[in-house]
This record gives sequence, C-alpha cells and structure tokens, in this order.
Amino acid sequence: MIPLRKNIALMAGYVPGFQPKDEKAWIKLNTNENPYPPSPKVIEAILAEVGEGLRKYPDPASQAGREEAARLYGFDPEWLIMANGSDELLNNLIRAFAGEGEEIAYVHPSYSYYSTLAEIQGARVHTFRLTQDWRLADFPECYQGKLFFLTNPNAPLGFTYPLDFIEELAGRVEGMLVVDEAYADFADENALELVRKYQNVIVTRTFSKSYSLAGMRLGLAVARPEVIAALDKIRDHYNLDRLAQAAAVAALRDQDYFRECVRKIRETREWFSGELRVLDYGVIPSSGNYVFASPPDRDGKRVYDALYQRRILVRYFSDPTLAHGLRITIGTREEMEKLVAALAEIG
Ligand code: PMP
Repeated sequence: MIPLRKNIALMAGYVPGFQPKDEKAWIKLNTNENPYPPSPKVIEAILAEVGEGLRKYPDPASQAGREEAARLYGFDPEWLIMANGSDELLNNLIRAFAGEGEEIAYVHPSYSYYSTLAEIQGARVHTFRLTQDWRLADFPECYQGKLFFLTNPNAPLGFTYPLDFIEELAGRVEGMLVVDEAYADFADENALELVRKYQNVIVTRTFSKSYSLAGMRLGLAVARPEVIAALDKIRDHYNLDRLAQAAAVAALRDQDYFRECVRKIRETREWFSGELRVLDYGVIPSSGNYVFASPPDRDGKRVYDALYQRRILVRYFSDPTLAHGLRITIGTREEMEKLVAALAEIG
C-alpha cells in the first residue's frame, strides 16, 4: 500500500467528457467546445512565439494578458489574474479559502468538478437543490461556508439567475461567492459589476468556449486586489506558458472576431431550440453555447445511444435528476442540421 492521504485513496476523481480517438469521424457536441477555429490573429501570435525564445521562462505575472483583459472589462490590472484554464482558478480558490473539514457549497445540478476539488482538499461539500423556478431551495439567510460556487449561466441546464438574485446572494454568503461565468459571453448579462460592489464576489471566466481556445488552457478571474493577491501567492509561478500568453493577448484584442463567433453560436442556438420544439422535445431556454433538452419519452439514454451509433456525441448524465435529457453543444449550422435530421429519424 502506498501511503496516500485517506481522502485521496477514497475519491473517485473527475471524469471529463469522452474524447474519441478519430475525432474527425464524429460530430462532437459533448464538451461545449466552440465549433469555429480561434481568430487567425491568435494563430499568428502563437506561431510568432514558436522559436528560440521558448528556452526562456514566460512572464510569471502574465502581465500583457492581464492588462488587455483589464482594459476590456474596465478594471485595473490588480483586479485580475490569468490562469491555466478556469479550472486552475477553481482549484486555487478552494486551496486559498477552504481548509480541511471546512465547508464549501454549490448548486445541484451544476459543475461537479467543484466537489472533486473539495475532496482533494479534504473540505466538506454541501449542495443546494434548485426549485421549479430556478432559485435555490433552502438557502439560509446567512450561508456560513467558506465558498459558494454559482455557475451562471447554469451548466448543464443553460438558464441564468437574475442579477438582483445574485446580488442578494452576495449579501447572504458569509464567505466568498464565486460566480463561475464560463458561459457568460453567450448570455445577455454578467456579474462583473458586483465585483466592484461586494468584497466577497469573484467572477471566473474561460477562453475555452467563446474564444475557441479550450486546447490552450486559459482562464481569468476578476476580484478585489486582496483576493487576487491571495490567489497570486498560491498559483504555480509560471502557470501560463509563452504560447498561451501570446494567444490570450491576441484573442482579447480581436473583439470583432469574438463578437461574430458568439453571434453565430447564439443564432444557431435559437434556431436549433426551435427545431427541437417542433420534434416535441422539452427545451430549457439557454444562455450558453449548449441546450438541455428532453425527448418526448424523457429517456435521454435511448437518444444518446442512437446518436452514438450515428457518430454524433452529446452529453448524457446518468444522475437521475438529469437522465431525462441531454446537454447538446451548439456546433455549426451544418452540424446541427445533421443532428436534427438524426433526431427526427430516431423519434
Ligand atoms: N466552469 C464550468 C461551468 C465549465 O463547464 C467548465 C468547462 N468544463 C469550466 C469551468 C472549466 O473551463 P476551463 O476549460 O477554463 O478549465
């Protein structure tokens, strides 16, 4: 027996979405990737970085990306931190705020990786259930845990919480309120303004979805400088490599490309949601780059299997509260047309 910490020995570990080996043979709509390539300016910037300079360490503070993002969002750079994917930020938030035996909470259903990260740390996890109208059941007047993660837009369901509700939560959470805005670029609203108003609010973002850079691993967070300074202390000192830093700056600068990509995905999302309704699917109006939809017989597994046979990958959750539906990433219009034809055939 190796002398592992007990909680590591007992934990199952997070299982990311399935990645087929022959990716090109599939229509892959299971991990909320962007169907469009990154901006050509991002590719150029990465290629310009490939060369003898790679023998040197990258800027430990990722200052260029941080300044670019700060300008874009209207904050001073001390309010921002860059990370190796937003997963790195979630991990470091738990390490910074939740000690062994202390509690963190999140909403079920949302991103279950929070729970895995808490298990690693030895923190306790509480989950709040959703009510019929997408509020939180039994949320106390004052939640005393160290961190509360609110995924907004919700993943996998796609709805958004109203901003005034998030603001109310900021006042009711004694610890930190982490608004995980991985999908906020596809929504109409975001919680950045609350960061200025409440010292316990932190917003996390990713470049994996709206900037088409899941393969580069880039994320960022916006919070009060004292929170950012704490996260800065505990991250890997060279957490972003040179290619990722160059990609981040170029992606943030090319806002025209970014806006056009987001526009196309939102347009396809609305068209696809309409087609699903024609097929008698139950569809939750989505503010993300995915849709949660239930087939007429509410058997998500049956449809998942039939799509898999046709080499179309979507996300099925065996969790009983979600097994009635599927989370389907918005691909190109052409991919979604093929999916609609397959769904009509499957029935
Ligand atoms: N939060 C949510 C809600 C997500 O769905 C994901 C992606 N699976 C992440 C965070 C992590 O994104 P990243 O690729 O930036 O680590």
